[in-house]
Amino acid sequence: MRGSPRKGGLKITLEELMEHKLDWEGTIIPELKEIVGEENVLNHVIDLYVYSRDASIDTGWPAAVAFAHNTEEVSKVVKLANKYEFSIIPRGAGSNVCGGVIPAKPDCLILVVARMNKVVDLDLENFLITVEPGMVCLDLNNYIEPYGFYFVPDPASDKTATIGGMVNNNSGGIRAVKYGVTEQWVMGLEVVLADGTVVHIGNKAIKYVCGYDLVSLFVGSEGTLGIITKAMLKMQPLPEVRLVASGYFDTAFAAGKCVREIIRRGFDPSGTEIMDYKTLKAVEEYSGKVKFPECGAVVVVELDGNREDVEMRLDRLELVFKEMGALQTEVARDAETCEQVWAARKAAFPALTLRRPTARMEDVSVPLENLPVMFQKIDEVSKKNGIEIATFGHAGDGNLHPILLWDERDPDQHRRALQTLIDLWHAAVNLEGTVTGEHGIGVSKLMMMPVEHEAAVLELTKKIKQAFDPKNILCPGHVIPIPGQKFFTEEDVS
Ligand SMILES: Cc1cc2nc3c(=O)[nH]c(=O)nc-3n(C[C@H](O)[C@H](O)[C@H](O)COP(=O)(O)OP(=O)(O)OC[C@H]3O[C@@H](n4cnc5c(N)ncnc54)[C@H](O)[C@@H]3O)c2cc1C
Repeated sequence: MRGSPRKGGLKITLEELMEHKLDWEGTIIPELKEIVGEENVLNHVIDLYVYSRDASIDTGWPAAVAFAHNTEEVSKVVKLANKYEFSIIPRGAGSNVCGGVIPAKPDCLILVVARMNKVVDLDLENFLITVEPGMVCLDLNNYIEPYGFYFVPDPASDKTATIGGMVNNNSGGIRAVKYGVTEQWVMGLEVVLADGTVVHIGNKAIKYVCGYDLVSLFVGSEGTLGIITKAMLKMQPLPEVRLVASGYFDTAFAAGKCVREIIRRGFDPSGTEIMDYKTLKAVEEYSGKVKFPECGAVVVVELDGNREDVEMRLDRLELVFKEMGALQTEVARDAETCEQVWAARKAAFPALTLRRPTARMEDVSVPLENLPVMFQKIDEVSKKNGIEIATFGHAGDGNLHPILLWDERDPDQHRRALQTLIDLWHAAVNLEGTVTGEHGIGVSKLMMMPVEHEAAVLELTKKIKQAFDPKNILCPGHVIPIPGQKFFTEEDVS
């Protein structure tokens, strides 16, 4: 039910779209076709419907969609946008869950860079690879694996997420607890700026402090500062083994406490995930094969390194699970079983989406000490509003994905779900955390920017945006609201 009008969604109507669509027919569309080719521009209403959504529950119609194939085309399209003053949203796979590729203005072009997916350079001597932004994360890993490397940032969406999307959302994943998020793995970028200029930033040198760190500024900028057309990435040598142990606990609270203890004792896990019992039940039903022990939550821990060392640490880990009250433990000592465990974890969101007509993935992140309490808060807000929540996440980073499940066709349920969302966000902030650990603000979480940031910080953020994009061509209304923009606020619930 992602197509219905909804409170809290965006408000670009079909009527507004048609107005702009007609405006574009005689001017922008022919010029766009000249740049990227006739067959690479879409503006039929059915195509626009497809591109009016992403993996969030927000929607908004673009005026057209274009597919770029190289940096030159991207630059020319951006120059065209400057000429006619329309806006552009760069798009990879559209798997973001924060309305990151949803237009906030009707005069918007979705510029898809997913077809720019080639390897540009493989520098095995320096463990670096340069790729175009449309390269899919899993394809990148399949490409470098025969050389003995892997790309560490590993979102559960790795089969679809593109490098451009990952860089712009600063995506995390299962191994962030040990190796960090995307930011730690980007050495350089080629960027088309908001006026169409192409710049190259970063360096192959590991230590590099020559001026401001612009690479880090672009990472996580959600397409608002420039369009990435190439990314130079670090590769990590594959470990000899990666093995997994699971501890099943009575409650998510107990599981959360165990996660902190594992980190405190210096296990240095390369993955520390958590799934509550609702998630486990959904995964069981979805897969039809997996069967988990009865429990309140499971903690899944991955250790990597040489076999002897990992085996020894796994034995100690099992003891810690027991010490922390695990009802049951399991150790997977072969690659195939470990892969099955991770496949079950990666199936969590798709499995849960089948349970109810509407599923919204949240992304709260709290300091480790507050992780167990966050589980209690999730339970409280769920009960208070009568909305089901299943939770899994990257517990070692304190980053949880509560999944709100409801039926948005029922206005009362929908209102209660939005209230749940607001309560959840405030609970995370009150626990010294954030509403978003890895998914970003997009248009979905704009209302929380003034809650999390001081006014002076918001002002500074605006000035950075103005310096990079004075005409507000790139993703207007994302991260920073535009005048008159209708986005989700507490008023939608009252
Ligand atoms: C089932 C599921 C599981 C997920 N698991 C995780 C997870 O474990 N960890 C995690 O961090 N996220 C996760 N995500 C969220 C999402 O997959 C990631 O944010 C992903 O990196 C987005 O990549 P994309 O190619 O789909 O980007 P898109 O959704 O197309 O775009 C994301 C943002 O990047 C911008 N952008 C895209 N390409 C460019 C470019 N070349 N230049 C400038 N800006 C650009 C867009 O404008 C937008 O703001 C998950 C999503 C789903 C649906």
